[in-house]
Amino acid sequence: MIYQAQLIDEAEGLIGFPDFLLLNENGEYQAADAKLSLSENKKEIKVQLGVYRKLLANQMPAIVFLGGGQQALIGEETDEVTNKYIGEMRSLLSTTEQPTARYSHSKCSTCPYYQHCKPGFRTAEELSLLYGIDGRSVPALQQAGIETITDLAASDPAGIPDVPYLKGEEKIERAVLQAQSYLSGEAIQRSPVVLPDGHWIHFDIEDNPLTENSGKHVYLWGFLVPDYGSANFEYVWTDCDEDDKAGWIEFLNQIERYRQRYPDLILAHYSAHEASTIRSYSSRYNMEDHATVKYLLGEESPLFDLHKPLLQSLVLPVQSYGLKEICKHPDLVNFQWEDDDSGSQWSVVQFNRFLLATDSQVRTDLKAEILGYNRDDVTATRRLEEWLREQFMV
Ligand code: SF4
Repeated sequence: MIYQAQLIDEAEGLIGFPDFLLLNENGEYQAADAKLSLSENKKEIKVQLGVYRKLLANQMPAIVFLGGGQQALIGEETDEVTNKYIGEMRSLLSTTEQPTARYSHSKCSTCPYYQHCKPGFRTAEELSLLYGIDGRSVPALQQAGIETITDLAASDPAGIPDVPYLKGEEKIERAVLQAQSYLSGEAIQRSPVVLPDGHWIHFDIEDNPLTENSGKHVYLWGFLVPDYGSANFEYVWTDCDEDDKAGWIEFLNQIERYRQRYPDLILAHYSAHEASTIRSYSSRYNMEDHATVKYLLGEESPLFDLHKPLLQSLVLPVQSYGLKEICKHPDLVNFQWEDDDSGSQWSVVQFNRFLLATDSQVRTDLKAEILGYNRDDVTATRRLEEWLREQFMV
């Protein structure tokens, strides 16, 4: 497996950066990308993976790992839409004028032209720089007299009409606050931050989509327990996906131990991924009626998603509300990961290297790196909790 491969066909003028290249038994590489999307039926996904297939010049379908844990294949049925897109891009490149473009955080922040385009967007105070403002909303906002972020920040939300992708009082009010936060660089509190009382344990999982099994394999269930120092990191680990069920059962046992220790347990995590993974494991092993599963997913669940109060109560000077963007921001949580290059895909790659390694020292080192990354993730959610309490709950 090659992580973050770089493919280039100079004659065709094509480049592609698949998340993974997987070598099959015939010696052919297959491209694979991880997406947050729940469906592969999106033109941009088809075109992106279609371009990878063109660059690899073999018959292998590309794989897309979807946000819900499923996999889909992108094959020759997407050749037509891919070729049409490439034709349109070639005709665009043949013009001498730079085309008009809107900022899109998910697309621009990973684009090689980011450093070229971003200053122009900033100078123009392009509205789609703001979290929650889609580029497709901008023409209608401009027609309503809101040309820049400064214009939006000064607007009365009640006077802004519904426009495509920005409809309703709540979203419009939030957009105005987002503009104000962008300009001031400060967090704006919209409502009281409410965090549940109890003994908090911070929880994060690492899973491997590259398995032979039907679903992702969670190789690490990580926890930061009181007193929240680096020595208070605990985990359930499995060496390979054959131990998938054993790891899941041990995770449930660990939860029961925490429940005994802390009857008022709060299991804090960031985003819906942890809860949805527990749900999919309970269905994978037909354990929806297991007492611990019912405890975890029932009405009195100890699971608490920290992302929710953050989005509900605060407007932050960030372009995405991901854990890293908020925690690394020097004026917000200001927590830095030990390894700046680490991330969930990085962890998947280290785990697959661990699976392939035969040298015990190499395996030990790789495992230590993966554990270190997960420990930083749960420490980050702890720091986020502390920051929320200190800044917004006093
Ligand atoms: S950085 Fe520029 S070239 Fe890249 S996606 Fe954004 S607007 Fe397009």
